[in-house]
Amino acid sequence: MAKETDIIKQKLEIVEFLRGYLTLLPAGKNFKALCPFHGEKTPSFIVSPDRQMWHCFGCGAGGDIFKFIMLYEHLEFPEALKFLAERAGIQIQSLNPAQQREFGVLYDITDTAKRMYKEALPKNREAQEYLKSRGLHLDTVEEFELGYAEGGEWLTLRLLKEGYDIETIVRAGLAQKNTRGLYRDKFQERIMFPIANQVGKTVAFTGRILPSALERMQAQGMTMEPPKYLNSPDSLIFNKSKILYGFDKSKQAIHETKSVLIVEGQMDMLLAWQSGVKNVVAVSGTALTPNHLERLRRFADTVVVSFDNDEAGLKALERALDYFHSFDFHVKVIGLGSHKDPADACLADPEFLKKAIEWAKPAMQYILDVYFTPSSYKKHDIPAQKRVLRHLLQKVQPLRSAVEQNIWLQEIAKRSGIREHALLEELASLEVSRSTGGEEETVSNPVPHSKEGTQGELIARRLLALALTRKGFLDTLKVNSTLLPSAYREMLEHPDSEAIGFLELESSYEFGGLDEAKLEKEFHDLFGRLESGVLRERKIILQEQLKEAQSAHDDKRVAELLSEFSEVMKKIDTLSK
Ligand SMILES: [Zn+2]
Repeated sequence: MAKETDIIKQKLEIVEFLRGYLTLLPAGKNFKALCPFHGEKTPSFIVSPDRQMWHCFGCGAGGDIFKFIMLYEHLEFPEALKFLAERAGIQIQSLNPAQQREFGVLYDITDTAKRMYKEALPKNREAQEYLKSRGLHLDTVEEFELGYAEGGEWLTLRLLKEGYDIETIVRAGLAQKNTRGLYRDKFQERIMFPIANQVGKTVAFTGRILPSALERMQAQGMTMEPPKYLNSPDSLIFNKSKILYGFDKSKQAIHETKSVLIVEGQMDMLLAWQSGVKNVVAVSGTALTPNHLERLRRFADTVVVSFDNDEAGLKALERALDYFHSFDFHVKVIGLGSHKDPADACLADPEFLKKAIEWAKPAMQYILDVYFTPSSYKKHDIPAQKRVLRHLLQKVQPLRSAVEQNIWLQEIAKRSGIREHALLEELASLEVSRSTGGEEETVSNPVPHSKEGTQGELIARRLLALALTRKGFLDTLKVNSTLLPSAYREMLEHPDSEAIGFLELESSYEFGGLDEAKLEKEFHDLFGRLESGVLRERKIILQEQLKEAQSAHDDKRVAELLSEFSEVMKKIDTLSK
């Protein structure tokens, strides 16, 4: 099984390959570079052409080209395999036990849909006019491969004709059953924006409804108005919380400028790009997540954000700021003036964004400017002063750089007339009150953490891959298969499936070199994590059910639930020991 990866490694010489990502300097018979996985000023990243391996003596990361690309581009193994196979000029089919693997078929169908949408765009005048009215040029439309979804069963029928089965079409988020049980296209009368992953593969879509379609539905007085923008659901190849719109194209510019402009919608991204701001990404239809920021952090140290000139905009900025600071980003803010969003600003003045970015202020300064206007900071109202100062100190607190903390403390001291020393003391007391869960209202985190389910799936995936190396593991999993998410339980029941074949490949790669003891430990750890995840979910459900039963005064049910609850708690307790 591992042979395929060997073929790729033979074709892609590691030094040549890494030159595309790093500046390599000769070091004896090896090469060295600045490690891209941890910040450093002197190179400790060593590449060995003899062994076709790399290793960083600064952070301990190391491996072959697969490991490198997985870390660097944040890819899962199957994606990395696909990516490198293409670079090596190897037919991906020759790599696979079967032709239509889970990943492969989803990539293929999404790509096919993109082509169909694209071909339909020139035939729809309203869609074209809409794009023109928003200021998009034809070459931008082409470059980002925008398209049009007619609706009805238009796409579904075409995909069926191409040989895809209906389950795959649904699984790819391109069709869904309506209330009468009939399959219809997910995207109806929408302008389609293909969303690509980091290596430029289309993995999902956002569809913007046609103005006339929206008006028609509004006129019909539909109770549920369709959303203006609709996203593909998450799938095996698309995870909203990881992918940023446009990043595949803009990452080079982000890398070069070390800064990134984050905007909200696709239109904002495209118009910024068109006006020459190439280091731009959009978070479409979702909040920024740690995954997004982690990904950007490797390319940039400055983020530029725009926000609305109102109370809500300020609140949003303040929340986002804590978040950016926890990733040690330097944050700059641009004002949009009277423009609704960056797209509007670009439409009115193609040079606007470029100028605005040049004049962007550090976010902390922006915030201080707002809070130190005479109307918000009243010199004689001591409680109000205290509130403002504490609030601002809370913004300073998450700054990872002591130098930056100090700069803003000095600035606050200057503007408030309070001595820096006193501010420092107040800051220290904040730290205490926070760490002891004190009374201070902490700013709620605007970004949800990755769902338990997602984590459970990741664990299940790794566990199953590991189980494929030892019959004993596999038997344990089979006995406990109810712990697995349904997709993995199904895989377990079909050992001859393509999905399993693929996982085997991943398995031999991931676990090939590990000794028995390490494998045992890994399996034990993963299994424990899976189990405790399932128990914690069960606990939450039980709590909900208990609440219901209690308010319904169903004593018998309450007793049953309580007994299960204590069982679950006991198990959680045992596991955590
Ligand atoms: Zn390193």
